This record gives sequence, structure tokens and C-alpha cells, in this order.
Amino acid sequence: MQKTLIIFKPDAVQRRLVGEILARFESKGLRVAALKLLQVGRALGEKHYAEHAGKPFFEGLIDFITGGPVVVGVLEGNEAVAVVRSMLGATNGTAAAPGTIRGDFSSSKQNNLIHGSDSPESAAREMALWFKPEEVVEYAIAGSQWVFDGA
Ligand code: UDP
Repeated sequence: MQKTLIIFKPDAVQRRLVGEILARFESKGLRVAALKLLQVGRALGEKHYAEHAGKPFFEGLIDFITGGPVVVGVLEGNEAVAVVRSMLGATNGTAAAPGTIRGDFSSSKQNNLIHGSDSPESAAREMALWFKPEEVVEYAIAGSQWVFDGA
């Protein structure tokens, strides 16, 4: 099992799509291991997106991610990082394939509703940034053998 970090960005909260998007992840078989709503400060936003510092869209991205509350969570499942990334779709909502979250709900390169860690290493870094260890909860899901190979 693998964990990945997701962020329902401020546009997802404002558009009241959090429940609908979370339902997709749960329907896929992913387990919610952590979830909270918070207002992001600039320092945290800049740390999360540090790899993009200096790029032309960076300041706008920090304005966006700090522009309203987000819901941040940890999902767990087999190949969770890759599964979530494929469910998100391409970064630019106008180019994202139909059937993906961004393809179905976003028409923007910036306001693309949801973040998902891009590697297991990023997931570990991001989980440590957003959650205290005790906020990420281990528990068994009954009937996992009906969802995952080898569970
Ligand atoms: N972004 C943007 N303009 C761009 C590229 C990215 O505003 O030209 C924003 C967008 O919200 C994206 C985030 O910056 O989700 C991080 O970019 P990344 O390339 O890591 O995309 P992701 O991994 O989220 O698909």
C-alpha cells in the first residue's frame, strides 16, 4: 500500500466540488488516511510549490492557493501516487482528457481543482509538510480483498 497527498484547491472548495471529487477517489478504492480544511498562509504555499519558485506563474499560483480555504488529505491504496495522478488528468484543464477530474470539471491551467503528489518521494515530503504524524491514521478497511490484488 502507498500513500499520496491530495489538495482540494480553493476553486474546488468555492465550487463545492470537494464531496464529488472525494467520492471518485473513494469509489476507486482509495482509503482516506487524513483530511482537514485550512486557510493556507503564503509561507506554506511557497514551501509546497518550492520547485516552481521563479517561474512566471509562481506568484499567481501562491495568490491562488492562499486565496481561500483548501481541503488537504492523504489517500492510501495500491499504487496510490500513480492512480491519483491518472485520475487528475493533465495540468491544463482545457487539455485534460474527459473522464479525468480536471477534464470533467476544469477549464483552466491554474484553477485545476486538485493537487496530487507526483512521486512517492514528493508524497513523503508533502505529507510531512501538511500533517503531523499522528494526523495520518492507520486503520483497516473491511473487505479490502474485494478491491486490491493480494490484500
Ligand atoms: N500552474 C499554472 N500555470 C502553469 C503551470 C502550472 O498556474 O503554466 C499551476 C497549476 O495550478 C498546477 C500547479 O501550478 O497544478 C503546479 O504545476 P505542476 O506542473 O506541478 O502541475 P500538476 O503536477 O499540478 O499537474
